[in-house]
Amino acid sequence: SGARIKELHRNDELEDLAISINQMLDRMQGYIDQQKQFVGDVSHELRTPVAVIEGHLNMLERWGKDDPQILAESIDASLQEADRMKHLIQEMLDLTRAEQIDVQYPYEVTNVNEVTQRVVADMAMVHPDFKIQLDEDDLPADTEIQIYHGHLEQLLVILIDNGIKYSTDRKQIIVSAGVTKKDVNIIVQDFGEGISKEDQHKIFNRFYRVDKARTREKGGNGLGLSIAQKLVDSYHGEISVESVEGQGSQFKMRFPRLTKKKAAKLRKLNEK
Ligand code: ADP
Repeated sequence: SGARIKELHRNDELEDLAISINQMLDRMQGYIDQQKQFVGDVSHELRTPVAVIEGHLNMLERWGKDDPQILAESIDASLQEADRMKHLIQEMLDLTRAEQIDVQYPYEVTNVNEVTQRVVADMAMVHPDFKIQLDEDDLPADTEIQIYHGHLEQLLVILIDNGIKYSTDRKQIIVSAGVTKKDVNIIVQDFGEGISKEDQHKIFNRFYRVDKARTREKGGNGLGLSIAQKLVDSYHGEISVESVEGQGSQFKMRFPRLTKKKAAKLRKLNEK
């Protein structure tokens, strides 16, 4: 995609060509800069768990043989940290994949009712202490959008998981879905700690966490929402947040609604 050289007829077409080549080069430089930034961020994030594990190994080497408590604690802490690192690496892979999905699953048509019901039921089973509700009063049966079903599942899991992680006393999550003429909206609402106005636009940046110390304790690494953003973008959707500190947050995903005709056309393309 992007600039292509076509037939040249006149001098000003040569000039147009030069302009589009320059634009293309700028865009490529932009990608390179982003990649460099990403590698830098990743190295920084991996350094912490490696340092923690190293610290525990040093303790084990010095005192592990004589002190059974240090032995047990250090092994336990190292395993936990390794587990955290494993998640981090998985999410970084997800993030990289989210940037290339249009190549992978271009035409899948997914039933929103089915996926939301399945994910809410699964999450409710995993978190029996939470009341996870589904409200589809405004969602016609068999509403479809263009998305790989696994990505819609992943999006819902990221948002519901966050609602759970950043909850306070009221352990309730409401997932609602509905349509307008052109759009399908899916909303995940929680009644937890909320997000300040200032942080609301930053939380979609990779590795951004409002409270570094606390989210670390909860196992967060600041990648969930940036993955969500990338995924939603690549299906021509939008993700946004409304939140009041101390009261809760509402994350909304908007996707283009498929007409029956467009859905049928995509399905056909998918078969090829
Ligand atoms: P993390 O793995 O840290 O949860 P995310 O990218 O999913 O990473 O979220 C980034 C940050 O946004 C979180 O660390 C948290 O501070 C804030 N956040 C995300 N979802 C919520 C929510 N539902 N309620 C309050 N804060 C949230």
